[in-house]
Amino acid sequence: MKILSVNAGSSSLKFTLFELPEKKELISGTFEKIGIGNSFYTIKLNGEKIKREVDLKNHEDAVKHLMDELLENKVVENLDELDGIGHRLVHGGQKFSESVIINDEVLKAATECIELAPIHNPANITGISAFMSALPNIPQVAVFDTAFHQSMDREDYLYGVPYEWYEKYGVRRYGFHGTSHRYVYKTICEEFKNDKLKVINCHIGNGSSLCAINAGKVLHTTMGFTPLAGVIMGTRSGDIDPSMIPFIMKKENKTCEQVIDDLNKKSGLLGISGVSSDSRDIEDGIENGNDRCMLANDMLCKSVANYIAVYNNMLGGADVITFTAGLGENSKLTRETIGSLISSLGVVIDKEKNDVRGKFTKISGDDSKIPVYIVPTNEELMIAEDTYELIK
Ligand code: ADP
Repeated sequence: MKILSVNAGSSSLKFTLFELPEKKELISGTFEKIGIGNSFYTIKLNGEKIKREVDLKNHEDAVKHLMDELLENKVVENLDELDGIGHRLVHGGQKFSESVIINDEVLKAATECIELAPIHNPANITGISAFMSALPNIPQVAVFDTAFHQSMDREDYLYGVPYEWYEKYGVRRYGFHGTSHRYVYKTICEEFKNDKLKVINCHIGNGSSLCAINAGKVLHTTMGFTPLAGVIMGTRSGDIDPSMIPFIMKKENKTCEQVIDDLNKKSGLLGISGVSSDSRDIEDGIENGNDRCMLANDMLCKSVANYIAVYNNMLGGADVITFTAGLGENSKLTRETIGSLISSLGVVIDKEKNDVRGKFTKISGDDSKIPVYIVPTNEELMIAEDTYELIK
C-alpha cells in the first residue's frame, strides 16, 4: 500500500510517501513559507534533493504541487494508487487515545481541541482540509501527539489544583511527542523481543520530553497541560514556579501573554546561554570556554537526569533507557553528561560506543545496570503505519 504521511504547520507542510508494510520511503519533502511570500519546496527522491521556488498562497497550492510531483516523477501513475493519508494532529484532548479514520465527527472533535492547542491544531486541520478537497475518495487518518499519554493514571495526569479546573476546563497533564515516544518504545521492544519492557525514553530535541512506559502504558511524561513544562529545552523554560509570571509582568511591564512567550521562545538553552538555542552552538561555546554555555548545558542535562531518576523509581527499575531526537541522537556530550549524572542508578556509558550520531546503537557498557540505547525516531513512519493498520 502507498501511504502518505503529512505534518502540516501554519506555513509549512512536510510529507513522506511510504510503501507499506515494506517501510520503503518513496519520496519526501517540505513546502515552506506557505502564504507568507518567497515560498518554495524541497523534495527528496532517489537520493537526490530538488528545490523549486513557487508561489504557495495556501495549503491547497502545496497539495497541488505535491500531486503534480508524484505524477511527473512517476512515483504513481495515477493518484488512485494512493491508499491512505495519515495526518499529524498535535492535540486530541481527552477524546482520542489512539489514531482514528477522519470523518465529520473527528474533525469536529479536533476543532474543539483548538482552545488547547491554538497554534498547532488549526494548522493541522488546514492540512487535512486541503487533502480532503483534493482527494475526497482516499481515506484519511488522524494521529495525535497526545493520544499515547491518555493511558496515564488520574493521580499522574492531575495537578494539585482545584479539581473543578479539571472538570470544567480539562486542566490536566496531556503530554506531547506521543507518536515519537510510541515509535521508540515499539522499536526497542522489537529489539528485545519483549512487549512488556519498562522504558524511560528521552526525546531531547529543540522541544524535549521524557516518558516512562511500562508494558505499553504511559506512567508519566514531562510535558504537561502545554509543551512548556518538564525539562529545560532549546527555547522553553521547562518547569518553573508560576508565581514568577506576575512578578516579571510587573517588573518588565509586560502582559501575561508576553511573559509566557518569553518562557516559550526566549528561555531554555537560549535564555541561559544568551548565545543560541541550538546545541551545536552551545557545544562550540563550551569548547571556547564560554561559562554560560557550560551552565546551559549542565542545567539541561541535570533536568533530564533528575527526571530519569524519578521515572526509574516510578517504574520500579527501568529495563532500558533510550535517547532520541536531535540532541538525543546526535549529541554525544549530552548523552555522556546525562549518563554521568545517573551513575547512582548503575548506568555506565561506554565512551567509544557513544561516539556515534543518528544510528540505532547500544551506548552503555556491559557493566551498566540499565542498558542505554540511541533509537532514532521516525514519527512519519509511525503515522503511516497507523494509517495502514486502520485502512488495510
Ligand atoms: P525539533 O524539536 O524542532 O524537532 P530536533 O529534534 O530536530 O528539534 O532537534 C534540534 C536540536 O538537535 C538542536 O539543538 C540541534 O542543535 C540538535 N542537533 C541536531 N544535530 C546535531 C548534532 N549533529 N550535534 C549536536 N546537536 C545536534
